[in-house]
Amino acid sequence: MRTMLSLPCQKPNGPAITDLSSLVSKFGTCVGALNPDAWFPPEPNPSGGESPEALAIRRADYENTARQLCGPCPVRTQCLELALREEHDLPQTWFHGIRGGKAPWQRRSMVRRRRQAAARQITETSEAVA
Ligand code: SF4
Repeated sequence: MRTMLSLPCQKPNGPAITDLSSLVSKFGTCVGALNPDAWFPPEPNPSGGESPEALAIRRADYENTARQLCGPCPVRTQCLELALREEHDLPQTWFHGIRGGKAPWQRRSMVRRRRQAAARQITETSEAVA
């Protein structure tokens, strides 16, 4: 059984993005996987004929499968932290695929909370300086 690497990347002054990226590319379960598409949503059937409901079911299946694949990944925590930092300044429509066991809709919510916390901190700091 693989064990999770313990790196305190939840702290704002935690490891640099390059360190996280290096860990994820070295130990990530999805890196070099035979089925790399499993971490990304299925595209609509190019020949058409698929209902929106059928596509939604396929997409829900992909999320469940990818989350299960991420579950035992030894760098899941670092992968999620890396995703949240990389996506922090991106438009939320750009979030794509499962990273760190979380779907884009879950990471959007996490990034939103981080942005709000950062904004509060800036406000408090500027008020303290004034
Ligand atoms: S947590 Fe998931 S997406 Fe991240 S490196 Fe591991 S397997 Fe890949």
